[in-house]
Amino acid sequence: MALKTMRSALHREGFEAFVQHYRAQRARKRLPVPEAPRGFDDTRAAAVRVNWGQWIIDCPFCPSAILADPDDRRFYCLECGSADNGHRWIAVVWPNEAAAIEDELLKRPREENRNWFPGEDTFKLRLEREGYEQWYAAVGRHLRK
Ligand SMILES: [Zn+2]
Repeated sequence: MALKTMRSALHREGFEAFVQHYRAQRARKRLPVPEAPRGFDDTRAAAVRVNWGQWIIDCPFCPSAILADPDDRRFYCLECGSADNGHRWIAVVWPNEAAAIEDELLKRPREENRNWFPGEDTFKLRLEREGYEQWYAAVGRHLRK
């Protein structure tokens, strides 16, 4: 078991393949097709975060988000077509300690509690988890009285 990513939950061949698949699917259904990505903007980047057990990227240009691809660290928005950035890919920043963050979050039994924001370290995540465990244990003791 691991946190969900683009490859585990959306397209096993990764972000670029998903963009192509999504655009083709929209065209087949005669729905508006987002512009094809063109070029790479190396002046901008987006950071991943974990939301409900999924590594995601928030679009810097609109309120959308999408699953992140650990093997293709680029982002292109299928919602707004990254129009405000000339339809260009941007870099995606992953934390160096992604595996440790994932290990710690997977100790949380409930998916909705598996969340991480850039800047949080695994020590803080562990303290949070232990705090919840103590809190639940205390509530359990209270309810058994
Ligand atoms: Zn967007």
